[in-house]
Amino acid sequence: MELIGSPTDLRARTDAQRAADARVGLVPTMGGLHEGHDSLIERARAERDHVVVSIFVNPLQFDDPDDLTRYPLDRERDLARCRQLGVDTVWMPSAEQMYPPGEHLASPQPGPVGELFEGASRPGHFAGVLTVVHRLFDVTGPCAATFGQKDAQQAFLVRRMVAEERLPVEILDCPTVREPDGLARSSRNALLNSDEREQAGCLFLGLSEAATLARAGEADAHALVAAIAREVGATPLARLDYAVVVDDATFMPIDSIDQGLRARALVAARFPSARLIDNLLMPPS
Ligand code: AMP
Repeated sequence: MELIGSPTDLRARTDAQRAADARVGLVPTMGGLHEGHDSLIERARAERDHVVVSIFVNPLQFDDPDDLTRYPLDRERDLARCRQLGVDTVWMPSAEQMYPPGEHLASPQPGPVGELFEGASRPGHFAGVLTVVHRLFDVTGPCAATFGQKDAQQAFLVRRMVAEERLPVEILDCPTVREPDGLARSSRNALLNSDEREQAGCLFLGLSEAATLARAGEADAHALVAAIAREVGATPLARLDYAVVVDDATFMPIDSIDQGLRARALVAARFPSARLIDNLLMPPS
């Protein structure tokens, strides 16, 4: 496994791989690697010959400086994990390498969907996400990039950017990896204290209840949202940020989940030590 910082070196390595007919897979991360990231890396390894994992905590996508400084990082542990998973290249640029002062950067616009849900709670978040993802794609060159459904709104916006700009990148989606109680694995889970951790399953419980209602024939999206809000609301340490049902094809809120739509319920909740998000496809009845 090679550890690279400079974008020029990374590009030279991926170009050499492509010249030798190897297909490149990119797994963008912010580090603090866990089983969710592992699943993305394994998917990339299964589908591509040369796997690059990028580790970069992107300051542009944090609206809250505290959230950025508290972000859990352990470089040595991340590198050991990548080595164990058979990663070929870890790209860990500094902020100056990622955003060289004076260099023109593309700044793709997230549009109206970028203002909703995560975008409403974290102003500027998706503009920062798309800027870094565009840069990662630009430096890596033609590749397949894996993204987790855990961050479904992010995956939606990245996929749309790739389509609109015709970037030479294939997007691979990976399902959400969960703890035994259903909590979606996340680097931020490490920030929860034991009481918060015990109660953090409420997001998935609420989503599961909504899915059960949908399977039983409930088509009213507001009833599904109410089920999620009830579960989070009954959890002493959790404060609901938002719950909504969207059309997975447009990511716009919907009132009803019938008529062959793929509906996805989204939830975000604040605990004293961390803000958590999750989502689940709502099964048709
Ligand atoms: P992050 O390091 O949090 O920016 O995440 C990097 C990638 O891993 C993103 O595409 C996330 O959606 C994905 N990811 C994070 N947590 C999970 C999870 N529990 N299951 C699947 N993918 C995940």
